[in-house]
Amino acid sequence: MNALINTAPAGFDVAKIRQDFPVLKQKVHGKPLVYLDNAATAQKPQSVIDAIRHFYEVDCANIHRGVHELSQRSTAAYEQTRGKVRQFLNARTKNELIFVRGATEGINLVSQTWGRKCVKEGDEIIVSGLEHHSNIVPWQMLCEEKGAKLRVIPVNDSGELILEEYEKLLNPRTKLLAVGHVSNALGTINPIRQMIDMAHKAGALALIDGAQAAPHLKIDVQALDADFYALSGHKAFGPTGIGILYGKSKLLNAMPPWQGGGDMIRTVTFEKTTYNELPYKFEAGTPHIAGGIGLGAAVDYVTAIGMDRIAAYEHELLVYATAALSQIPGLRIIGTAREKAAVVSFVIEGIHPHDIGTVLDRMGIAVRTGHHCAQPIMDRFQVPATTRASLAFYNTTAEIDALAAGLQKVKEVFS
Ligand code: PMP
Repeated sequence: MNALINTAPAGFDVAKIRQDFPVLKQKVHGKPLVYLDNAATAQKPQSVIDAIRHFYEVDCANIHRGVHELSQRSTAAYEQTRGKVRQFLNARTKNELIFVRGATEGINLVSQTWGRKCVKEGDEIIVSGLEHHSNIVPWQMLCEEKGAKLRVIPVNDSGELILEEYEKLLNPRTKLLAVGHVSNALGTINPIRQMIDMAHKAGALALIDGAQAAPHLKIDVQALDADFYALSGHKAFGPTGIGILYGKSKLLNAMPPWQGGGDMIRTVTFEKTTYNELPYKFEAGTPHIAGGIGLGAAVDYVTAIGMDRIAAYEHELLVYATAALSQIPGLRIIGTAREKAAVVSFVIEGIHPHDIGTVLDRMGIAVRTGHHCAQPIMDRFQVPATTRASLAFYNTTAEIDALAAGLQKVKEVFS
């Protein structure tokens, strides 16, 4: 057995799971790879790699319009993913799922279509102090264009959103709440069910940035009553360059199309173009077919393990990591919310995060250092950057021990 694997909760066979991830088997700088940068991108199981390879080796053809066998096969495989994602998110119909490049593109699609049509001068859009730049900047751009106002839910010292302040921000001018399900920088899990309810009571819509939730939590867009929910395939063990935007069909139908081109039309003449039905109305041009098929394999993979079991195992890892890192003198964890995903963001007094990351890398340990594309939350905690260990279900307590030992070494190097 790999030396970096020791305990796991009953029934969660992490050693077996690790066998499915070829990338984890390598050494980096002569040491077994300890991959703790899952919030940036997650690794891919063999079944995802095989699905992509199968597409290019066997089924490769453009989708939707071909009558020939290969086109039929590739269309079926691509569209099957939509069905799998429907189940994964518990959407009402497949037509509510739009293939996009990732969470960023999903959010931009909503801001450019719904936003441009529905947001007027004087309207307000609420985001939170925890957001990733991709759930801030598109709304800022829209507000600038429309003369609307961006309002921000403040964050407490634990890294939790202050709901009483959110309540005060809601008013008849509020058009949208745009909030992350899980913070990439701190790991905070936001009470989005309650927040969506509050937005709806004020007459606003709610868009959820689910980029960091989809890999870790069971999601039910109907139970949440989310109006839009965006996610990235690559953070959920699928390929890069593919993601999903969920939207309620009533809203998607009323929204103007975004990009124009093939597939999104019904008829084209120089006088007038009519648009395709959902979801194709929002899918102009040849998509990332292999990526869509790979995403389907990723959904199959995590579904077979079970999102509830994944969340429970990762919670144990979080508790273990929090305890292990808290032992290190001078280390301060940034983000201590009661509800957290398995992300530990921290600073060590007197040592720059980039130096921490560089020394850890020499030990084969991959962490992220920087502002994590969430500069406002760094400002809130008055740090320019943090070091972030973000865990996935293939990580182990032994890897956390390796991180803790690595950090002791970092301290020696810089003392
Ligand atoms: N939102 C959050 C919370 C994220 O962590 C990320 C990626 N770091 C994004 C949005 C953007 O995802 P992508 O780059 O895959 O579009």
